[in-house]
Amino acid sequence: SRVQRAPDDLFLRIVAGEVPATIVHSDDLVVAFEDVNPQAPVHVLVIPRERHENVAQLAAAAPATLARLVEVAQRIADERCGGEYRLVFNTGTAVGQSVFHVHGHVLGGRGFTWPPG
Ligand code: 5GP
Repeated sequence: SRVQRAPDDLFLRIVAGEVPATIVHSDDLVVAFEDVNPQAPVHVLVIPRERHENVAQLAAAAPATLARLVEVAQRIADERCGGEYRLVFNTGTAVGQSVFHVHGHVLGGRGFTWPPG
């Protein structure tokens, strides 16, 4: 029988502990870890344990998990950068999505321009 474990899903491999990451939060629904290529003093990725391709699909399939993701993002920002942060969900390759397992980027600890570049 064929195991549908999406072996190409890097973030599932991080959740499974098969790829090392600096985990900063883990619960029954979401996991958070340091981005390997940080773009700000605070740059943490918060992901659902289960794979959904983007934030809209997560919202439709598991709204409580999205709510938990946002709650955890806020808590990390509260602890690290005074609760002021950007929460970014890139959706689609045209805007820079490179991993198709939804992840919220928690970015903080410096100023950001608006509109974004
Ligand atoms: P996207 O471009 O899809 O919005 O974001 C993907 C993010 O995942 C990038 O910020 C990238 O630095 C991060 N990333 C890619 N590979 C790894 C990895 O193996 N470990 C960690 N911790 N972050 C990764």
